Amino acid sequence: MRAYNFCAGPAALPTAVLEKAQQELANWQGKGLSIMEMSHRSADFVAVAEKAEADLRTLLAIPDNYNVLFLQGGASLQFSAIPLNLLGKNQKADYIHTGIWSEKALKEAKRYGEINVIDAATTVDGKMAIADQATWNLSNDAAYVHYADNETIGGIQFAEIPDVDAPLVCDFSSSILSAPLDVSKFGVIYAGAQKNIGPAGLTIVIVRDDLLDQSKSDIPSILKYADQAKNGSMVNTPATYSWYLSGLVFEWLLAQGGVDAMHQINLQKAELLYGYIDQSGFYQNPIAKANRSIMNVPFTLPDEKLEKTFLAEAEQRHLLNLAGHRSVGGMRASIYNAVPLAGVEALVAFMQDFAQQYG
Ligand SMILES: *Cc1c(COP(=O)(O)O)cnc(C)c1O
Repeated sequence: MRAYNFCAGPAALPTAVLEKAQQELANWQGKGLSIMEMSHRSADFVAVAEKAEADLRTLLAIPDNYNVLFLQGGASLQFSAIPLNLLGKNQKADYIHTGIWSEKALKEAKRYGEINVIDAATTVDGKMAIADQATWNLSNDAAYVHYADNETIGGIQFAEIPDVDAPLVCDFSSSILSAPLDVSKFGVIYAGAQKNIGPAGLTIVIVRDDLLDQSKSDIPSILKYADQAKNGSMVNTPATYSWYLSGLVFEWLLAQGGVDAMHQINLQKAELLYGYIDQSGFYQNPIAKANRSIMNVPFTLPDEKLEKTFLAEAEQRHLLNLAGHRSVGGMRASIYNAVPLAGVEALVAFMQDFAQQYG
């Protein structure tokens, strides 16, 4: 039996997708070989790659003036690729700091330009929140404004897309495809695949046409959006298997009714879990309601000494990977698209039993 997997990343994949991949693993569509063993330039693989891009474009309604790139190096390499690609003409950028990932992004960017950091982490009634945009000290001549939609470790998420004049650049690693998105509001959207898309090894970058000529000179062509766009993300060998498998996830999402349908389920899952935590009198979530992540739900137990027991008993109930990030401790349930409502119901039932026994 497959357990419910609440891992923050690499994260759960839909069982139906894994079964389809298994079925065609050794002999892809009767061709006598695996998709992994094919040239990335073969007509068969190129068709798989193009279908994945077309399906992603459908899912997010990506306008035609945006390029979709299938790259490697994770979201972390984009922390450098973004300033290298966008700070060629104007060296200034604004970075909104809301947690550990946005901080990593701004630290890398500081090597390449003049970075104005806006500390938007605040508290509301003792809970962590994102400061109102009216309080941000944005520059009036930045090449772009960078933020992370969802801080995967802290479990804190923007309630709305910031309204800024400069092109918006956003790390959507842990929230892409969890809800509908107005891509036209962004200059660049990027996401490592291993949270809410597919397996590790693939990074999606969605970049607007007019930003392709802003790069610094002499940057590696693998990192250069213009070169990757011109070459169909094949400046070198792409992560073919991750690309293929992400394509299967996109097909699965379309079959579920697309991101609108997934969003409704994700809201149900988040409401069920936060609702239970809030009324339990046992567990606590540290985030103000307006900024609670619908994908990553951190929570604490009344006593840290209970954590090991909680994790061991959860595992016995086939509820896996509930430990919080090593930097913050506590518990965290990541409830990405591939975690079904039944998984969250099973988690809440276990949490109730645990609170009853140890409360
Ligand atoms: C996981 C994560 C990253 C880092 O991703 P890698 O692919 O490991 O580089 C960056 N940003 C966010 C928001 C993440 O969740």
